[in-house]
Amino acid sequence: MTHMVEIRDLHKSFGALEVLRGIDFTVDQGQVICIIGPSGSGKSTLLRCVNLLETPTRGQVFVEGEELTHPDVDIDAARRRVGMVFQQFNLFPHLKVLENVTIAQRRVLKRGKAEAEKVARDNLAKVGLADKAGSYPAQLSGGQQQRVAIARALAMNPDLMLFDEPTSALDPELVGDVLAVMRQLAEEGMTMLVVTHEMGFAREVADRVVFMDGGVIVEEGPPEQVIGDPQEDRTRTFLRRVL
Ligand code: ADP
Ligand code: MG
Repeated sequence: MTHMVEIRDLHKSFGALEVLRGIDFTVDQGQVICIIGPSGSGKSTLLRCVNLLETPTRGQVFVEGEELTHPDVDIDAARRRVGMVFQQFNLFPHLKVLENVTIAQRRVLKRGKAEAEKVARDNLAKVGLADKAGSYPAQLSGGQQQRVAIARALAMNPDLMLFDEPTSALDPELVGDVLAVMRQLAEEGMTMLVVTHEMGFAREVADRVVFMDGGVIVEEGPPEQVIGDPQEDRTRTFLRRVL
């Protein structure tokens, strides 16, 4: 069976700084993988290599069997299959919510206005924001803005969703709504790679937890193992700080 994502011996340096020092892992269709680890351990860089927002220095990244790191790959076509949600939402402030969710559908997928708006409204309803289509981002709470960002990514019909600390910029009382949407997506079978410090979410939703430190995977396995009964000192030290 072809893996949804396969990463082989991935290295990434920024100048003399080696941020990823040989990462290997696979994600299968429908799996949810949570990536945890201290600040600076390379989690964001790893996610960004999966949709080539960063170019790996060495190694290979495959999505659905296609090697994204191959020089002849159509990067735009490959990226279209991968949705990404960032810590800082990255909505267009001058566009209404509906337009934020239609713009890439229209420009990238070349969907017509009516179809793009239908897909947008369906996805806004899915994240609980059917009534906010006409609002501007600044009129929404952070949690609502992040749910718009999720709807925007889903509107592109991705096969894989990447989340980079999607709740880290939110006030604590707004975190739950965003996690609930992510949990629903997971239950519907979306393949997800999630960088998060939400250990409750990781425990309950992740099929596998990957603990990174210093640009390598220190430990990975089911949540009850990595979070519940870590084998490595570095994992234990990290968990003592976040739990
Ligand atoms: P994490 O997400 O785990 O906090 P990052 O992947 O963001 O870690 O960063 C890992 C290291 O790489 C950090 O030391 C960071 O400063 C460095 N880094 C990340 N992006 C760049 C960049 N574009 N240029 C230079 N250094 C970077
Ligand atoms: Mg990061």
